[in-house]
Amino acid sequence: MESNQESRIVKIFGVKFDQLTFDEAYAKFVQYMADDTTQSIFTPNSEIVMKADEDSEFKAVLNSGDLVIPDGIGVILASKINGLGLTERVPGIEMMGRILEYCNLAGKSIYLFGGKPGVAEIAAENIQKSFPNLKVVGYRDGYFEAKESPKILDAINEVKPDVLFVALGAPKQELWIHKNQKLLNTKVAMGVGGALDVYAGVVKRAPAVFRKIGLEWFYRLIIQPSRIGRMMVLPKFLIKAILARFFN
Ligand code: UDP
Repeated sequence: MESNQESRIVKIFGVKFDQLTFDEAYAKFVQYMADDTTQSIFTPNSEIVMKADEDSEFKAVLNSGDLVIPDGIGVILASKINGLGLTERVPGIEMMGRILEYCNLAGKSIYLFGGKPGVAEIAAENIQKSFPNLKVVGYRDGYFEAKESPKILDAINEVKPDVLFVALGAPKQELWIHKNQKLLNTKVAMGVGGALDVYAGVVKRAPAVFRKIGLEWFYRLIIQPSRIGRMMVLPKFLIKAILARFFN
């Protein structure tokens, strides 16, 4: 595999995705670790693409991402329906896991930013236990006023993490990364949604069998029925993808 290979871009309702396998996307991350500037990684799913479809500023921010990978099965189905060439899901949470393994092997440092008060701290403890050779150089919750943002940036830059995980949910995390990308003293800033809740043990991931067959969303719906409103976006998204196939 060529680590410096240029990826083909696929657009789903105007949101760009890098057409890469999981391993190729990971190779891009490894390449970023050798660069001097901060690179952004975004992981939109169908819900986020639908949000961007109604918000052109958010869409432009997603499209400014250095590496944009398809998080959910919905995006892959939309791509298949329209023959666009995305074939493999690259779930953000799994990419975060691989990045943590890398940081552990290479002795790199990370910062966890987001989640409810206390969540990032527990996630930091759990990650540190599982990956003893990486350094968690800082963490903080994701609830703050806009005027506090420069202080948060300074606190992160002071400890110079190699990788910054931003878990504010979409679109907050992508907007925050975009606004601060040129000011950040990190190699990579990645939006990871609810991943700190998973690492803190607040939210459980679906068992492997659900994940393998692309039904993680269904599992989450059963254990958290309040997500039904959010999840109705998926059928809407797929209908839109089918209409695009026949009428565009
Ligand atoms: N969050 C945050 N600050 C906010 C809003 C949300 O830190 O102002 C966190 C929230 O606590 C949760 C995550 O962002 O941990 C978003 O979770 P969600 O399940 O919505 O993420 P997604 O489904 O987008 O991965």
